[in-house]
Amino acid sequence: MKILKGDYAIGREGKRSFVFQITGTNEEEVWGVLEKDRCYEATNITIPRSQLVANLGAAPAIGRAYGCEVEPFFRSTVHEFWGNVHYFYKPTKEERSKFNKLLDKAEARLKKFGITKFFPLDVEMRQARGKTAGTFMYKHKGEDTRNVIQFFPKAEVPNDHTLFHEVGHGVLIHMFTSPKGRAKWIRAYHSAVHIAETETQKLKKLLKAVESKDHGEENLRDFQGQLEESEAETLDLVLDYISDMHSLNRKELDILLEDGDSIASMWPTKPLESSDMRSIVTEYAMRSWEEFFCESFALHLTGKKLPKSITSLMETTLTRLEK
Ligand SMILES: [Zn+2]
Repeated sequence: MKILKGDYAIGREGKRSFVFQITGTNEEEVWGVLEKDRCYEATNITIPRSQLVANLGAAPAIGRAYGCEVEPFFRSTVHEFWGNVHYFYKPTKEERSKFNKLLDKAEARLKKFGITKFFPLDVEMRQARGKTAGTFMYKHKGEDTRNVIQFFPKAEVPNDHTLFHEVGHGVLIHMFTSPKGRAKWIRAYHSAVHIAETETQKLKKLLKAVESKDHGEENLRDFQGQLEESEAETLDLVLDYISDMHSLNRKELDILLEDGDSIASMWPTKPLESSDMRSIVTEYAMRSWEEFFCESFALHLTGKKLPKSITSLMETTLTRLEK
C-alpha cells in the first residue's frame, strides 16, 4: 500500500476501526492523528503496517467506509461570543466572512434578550447531508460539559433561522426550566396541532366537494357561490395556491374538472394563509413541543410574524429565562 504524509487512512486495533491522517511512516509502522474529535484534541496513534486497512488518499469522499464515518476536519476559527467554529470542509473566503457576519448579527440579537448563559460553545460546520440543517448537542461526562451546534449548510452558510432554531434547543436545556412555563408551551403546541389537523381536514373536505360536484353547468365560481363564507374564503386561498404552484387558473381547472380529471395532486395538504397559525404550524414544528418552541423562537428572533398568542407567550418566556 502506497502511503504518503497527509493521506487519510483507516486503521484497526482489535475490533475497533478508525480514521486517521498519516503524519509519518517507516517499514514497520504508520503514525498519525486520529480524526475522531480532532477539532477538540489531537490524539496521536501509531500502528503496525499490518493493521492498516485502507488508504483513502489526501482528499477522501465523505461518507461511510470500512465501518467508519469519514469526514476530515479542516480547521477551526474563533468567534469571541460564539466560541470555536470548526470547519469540516474548506470554506471560501466569502463563506467565512458571510458566516462571521451572521454570527455577529445573531450575537447582538441574543444579547438583547439576555441569552448568553451557555456561550461560548462549539460550532461544527459540516457538509450537507440529508434533510438536517442543524442539531444542538449537550454533551456531559462528569465535570466535562460541552455544547455543540452542528450545521450542515446546503447553501453557502446556514441562515439565521437555522442558527436561532438550534440556539432555541440550548435555551430549552439551559435556561427554560420552569415547569409552569413548559406546561404553557405544551398546551400551545397541543392547540396548534389541533388547529393544523382541523385545517387539513377542511381542505380534504373541500377537495371532495369540488371533485364530486355536478359538473353539468356548474363551474368553480358557481360552486363557490353556494359555499359558506369561511369555506368560500378557503377556496379562494386554494385557488391562489394552485395558481402559484401549478400555474393553472380557475378556468383551466374548470376545463380539467369537466373532463373528469382529479385535481387532488395540486391541492394543498397543509394549512393555508387563512389560519392565523400558518407561520408556525409547519411540518417541522408539529413534531414535538420542543421543536414547536424552537421554531417559534427562531421566527421571533428573526422578526417574523407569529400568531398573537404565541408572540405574547414567547415574550413572557424570554423575560423569565434563567439567566
Ligand atoms: Zn430542532
